[in-house]
Order: sequence, then structure tokens, then C-alpha cells
Amino acid sequence: MLVISSEKMLAHDPGPGRPECPERLRVAVRALERLEGVAWEEARPATVEELSRVHDADYIAKILALRGECVELDEDTHTSPGSVDAALLSAGAAIEAATAAVRTSGVAVSLGRPPGHHAERAAAMGFCLFNNVAVAAAHARAMLGCERVLVVDWDVHHGNGTEHIFEARRDVLFVSLHEFPLYPGTGAHTDVGTGDGAGFNVNVPFAAGHGDADYAHAFREVIAKIADQFRPDLVLISAGFDGHAADPLAGMQLTEEGYAFMTDALLGVARRHAHGRIGVVLEGGYDLDAMGKSLRATLDVLAGKRSARELPVPTETGRATVRDVCAVLSRYWSL
Ligand SMILES: [Zn+2]
Repeated sequence: MLVISSEKMLAHDPGPGRPECPERLRVAVRALERLEGVAWEEARPATVEELSRVHDADYIAKILALRGECVELDEDTHTSPGSVDAALLSAGAAIEAATAAVRTSGVAVSLGRPPGHHAERAAAMGFCLFNNVAVAAAHARAMLGCERVLVVDWDVHHGNGTEHIFEARRDVLFVSLHEFPLYPGTGAHTDVGTGDGAGFNVNVPFAAGHGDADYAHAFREVIAKIADQFRPDLVLISAGFDGHAADPLAGMQLTEEGYAFMTDALLGVARRHAHGRIGVVLEGGYDLDAMGKSLRATLDVLAGKRSARELPVPTETGRATVRDVCAVLSRYWSL
């Protein structure tokens, strides 16, 4: 397993008291200590050409011009003098994770910050400057010979940026499980994609308080079934860990067992269709201990050191959400 990161991303410092803090990266790196079979690689910056696949040229130029500056891009998204270079490395690390996953038919992990999934084509948002996982998925399509890329976003917040970037496309299938309603307010189950992309955007919006068994139910009833029909040749995980019960920014009840279950399910998809290729891209997670343990559980499953356990039965409300999702998507997929 290859892990791509860089201490240089510690230089992105949004300021005191901000949840998306440099310590997150230290905790993520420490979580992988003593995991056998890990090779580390230094992240490299994404190029303008690579970013241009999913971001507008004017937006990229605007962000690059902020190098060395402290700016408030929106109420949650602040830059420090090192932020632009960190954001380029975070996107570059995601690209290299996708590349390594394809080249080795295995698992590669990008431990980067700032995170990416809220970043829109032409706007920074929600701690995110460039949409790392979208840049990686677009790179896989353009440069790695991948025909169909599955992006699964289990961060507790809806991946609005990733959805909007790919919503009209059928070559990148985007799946987001998230708390709803919650920031950023998008992610209704009826948003299934537009035009040619209709049916290729899957939102599973759970109310606060749902947890492992409900997420597992969604994987069994919807996500695995659609993934098996889509037949991705690369699986990317937008891996945020703020759905954990201990997270201070959200009200979901996931534990390490839930992350292990979801990882195991996606490993199955990758083995059945994608030669085992999985790229993991770090997103949110603001209780540092919970984030570290959940990340470790995810990678332990991917490394074959931990298996997923059977989970209790889902809640009635969780089942109802999954039924609603099936109802709109059964127009496009056999569910
Ligand atoms: Zn989040």
C-alpha cells in the first residue's frame, strides 16, 4: 500500500480555533504507524493543466495569486501564506493515489489537506480550495486509461463540488452518503444527475442519529448493486471521518465498525470489476482521535488485517431513507 503525503501541507493554517487544523494531518500520519507493508511517497503539486480538467482557468489563476496571502474566501475557508502550495500538494497527492492504484492494481492513499469535496468548479467553499478527488477522477479518465470511475463520498457533509462537477457525466458515478439537513444543504435523494448523467449521481441523505447499520443497509441495497452494474475500473473514496459519533461538527453515529464495513464493501466492488484498484482521498474529520482510529480501521481492512463484522439491523427511518433512494434510482438501475 502506497501512502502519499507531505509535511509541507502543515503550512496551510486557517488560524486558531478552526476545526480543519494542521494537527489533523499529523494525527492521520500517526494513525498509520506500525501498519505493515506501507510505502510512503512525498506528494508533488498538481499542475494547472491537471486542475483545469475540473476547475475554471480564472478560478485557478485567482487561487494561485493568493500565494503568501491571508484571505477569507468564504466564512469557513481561510488561507495562510502556505495554503496555496498545500492545496496544490493535496490535489497532486490525490492524483498520485489514483495513479498508483491503477499502476499497481492495489490500494493507494492520499493524506492531504486542505480537503476538497466542497470546492466547486469556480469557488472555494467549506475548507476546500481545489476538489482533490474530482481532479484525481478526471486524471484517471484523461491519462490512466480508466473508462468508468466510481467516487464514493462518506464524509458526513454532502460532496456538493464533486456532484456538480460530474452531474452531467456518465463516466464518473458519484455516490454521497451524508447527514441531511446539514451544511452545505445540497444532496437531496432526488438529485440523480442531469442530461447524459441522469442516474449517475446517487445521494443517500440520512437524518442525524443514524449509524453503522443504516450505512451498511445503504451499501447492500443500493450502492453495491449500482456499482456492480456500473462496473468501475477504478474506485475512489472521498474519505471523511466526521460521520463518527464523536465528531463535533455533525450528529451522525458511525463508529470504526461502520467504516470497516463500507471499506470491505468497496473492496469487493474493486476486486470484482477494477482489478482491486482503490484510491483513498482524505476529506474531513474533526474529532482527532476518532478520525485517526477510523482511518486506521479503513486501511486495516484494505491491508487485509481486519475484516468487517456483521452489523445490527438498520433502523426503520434508515430503511425508509434507503427505500426513497431506491425509488428514484430504480428508473436507471436494477434495484
Ligand atoms: Zn465533512
